[in-house]
Amino acid sequence: MTRRTIVWFRGKDLRLADHAPLRDALTQGEVLPVFVLDPLFFAPDNARERPHGIQFLIDSIRALQTSLVDRGSRLLLVAGKSVEVVPRLVHAWNADRVVAHRWVEPFARERDRCIAEALGDRFALYEGETLLPPGTLRTGAGNPYSVFTWFARAFHRTATVGEPLPTPRALPPVPDDVHAPAIALPTCAELGIDRNPQVQPGGEPAAVARLGRFLQDAAAKYPEHRDRMDLAGTSRLSADLKFGTLSPRQVWTAVQNAFGGTPAADSFLNELVWREFTHSTLWDRPELLDGPFRPAFVGFPWQFEAPLWQAWIAGQTGYPIVDAASRQLLGEGFVHNRARMISASFLTKHLLIDYRLGEAHYLKYLTDGDWAQNNAGWQWSAGCGCDAQPYFRIFNPITQGKKFDPHGDYVRRWVPELKHVPARHIHQPWHAPDSVLNDAAVRLDETYPRPVVDHRFARERFLSTAASHLKSGSLAENPRRQRPPRSDST
Ligand SMILES: Cc1cc2nc3c(=O)[nH]c(=O)nc-3n(C[C@H](O)[C@H](O)[C@H](O)COP(=O)(O)OP(=O)(O)OC[C@H]3O[C@@H](n4cnc5c(N)ncnc54)[C@H](O)[C@@H]3O)c2cc1C
Repeated sequence: MTRRTIVWFRGKDLRLADHAPLRDALTQGEVLPVFVLDPLFFAPDNARERPHGIQFLIDSIRALQTSLVDRGSRLLLVAGKSVEVVPRLVHAWNADRVVAHRWVEPFARERDRCIAEALGDRFALYEGETLLPPGTLRTGAGNPYSVFTWFARAFHRTATVGEPLPTPRALPPVPDDVHAPAIALPTCAELGIDRNPQVQPGGEPAAVARLGRFLQDAAAKYPEHRDRMDLAGTSRLSADLKFGTLSPRQVWTAVQNAFGGTPAADSFLNELVWREFTHSTLWDRPELLDGPFRPAFVGFPWQFEAPLWQAWIAGQTGYPIVDAASRQLLGEGFVHNRARMISASFLTKHLLIDYRLGEAHYLKYLTDGDWAQNNAGWQWSAGCGCDAQPYFRIFNPITQGKKFDPHGDYVRRWVPELKHVPARHIHQPWHAPDSVLNDAAVRLDETYPRPVVDHRFARERFLSTAASHLKSGSLAENPRRQRPPRSDST
């Protein structure tokens, strides 16, 4: 018996390959591919809150439209709140079922609960956002993992990552009796977003090409180069994984097939397991989007000085590596992982500014801005998260710069006013001899600021603030409980 299925593409699965809901719908008969332009993302005020992500999303939807048409179908664009629109479409189009991928975020789970309430068993969710369904792995005592190393061990023991599903060669046409309003995909301009040409292009074909380039160019040297901010040593697949122009299973399998069993593959796949950990953690602890994982950090005496916050945002703190990160974020909607860690540590520990402000700023401008990973990254950096960096480890922006941008090229790219400063002085221009600064055309406090805060002073201030806040809690009493999860020297 032919059944009519709405395949609801929801912005985290914008591909035809490895798409379980689509494959399932195909086995049942008629397929109605739908994307809902929900005001939560597409109202101009909301779109402007995610300019780079929305640009990538629009590119990706457009590519999906083309892929569907190439295979004989088309994408039905509908505007409105998903919770209202989707049940309405089921009735209007006489559909038997709605299928979609599951999302991990609390607000998305609430959306799905409402839709399930309206549609009952006509609404089916599929796994695919992560390699293992979030919340699957449990400690011996049946609790969610709080330590990445143990989570990763359990993952490797348990998970069998299967082959990705193939891309359908052809799709059935949308039946004639299905009338969708003729809505055009909005452009960035229509949403009030200035298109940023530096943001990487979205869409499944671009993602597949990116994965191919990574496997060919950078993957073999991933462990050696992944921390180097001056090199293209990482995959740059984070936005693809976020918007689902590639599934994690596709990426995992491609790396296994190309390098499986090598240290390079293990190192890269470990990062995908970090991604699993962050999603699983948010699944089990949805409250993390509002507050710290470690209860001892509740009520932490963060401070806020608007000029310092503005200096961090604009990349004018006087610490070149921190400023490069802030400017890369605004410039191309991406920040190298090492630079994210340095920048987040600086905001929270040097400037004592609440990690949630930094988290929101990153979520706004990162193309790959993802609730689970961004929240985990910020809580890790601030020292208050699940398996976080201990609060007493404070990145030194000068030594971090020297170590992971040894020639200063990352700084030169994003802080061009320092481009003629020799590598020896570029991470600490305020200590450079006058002659060096003159030759490089740098005038401190005119062309580039002096540090907004002294490193040693800031370090001591954070340590004493944290110690006195945490003194009644277990963190300060037993710092060895906070085992650093990654080899990040300070
Ligand atoms: C403060 C802070 C905020 C962050 N915000 C985000 C975010 O919003 N979205 C996001 O995707 N990542 C975030 N990360 C994690 C990491 O920085 C990015 O995933 C990575 O830089 C993306 O570049 P890539 O694709 O070249 O990574 P690669 O090194 O090539 O890694 C491959 C993939 O593994 C995953 N991954 C890598 N590192 C991590 C990590 N530490 N935690 C979780 N997953 C990881 C990503 O999906 C990434 O695409 C954040 C990290 C920090 C410290």
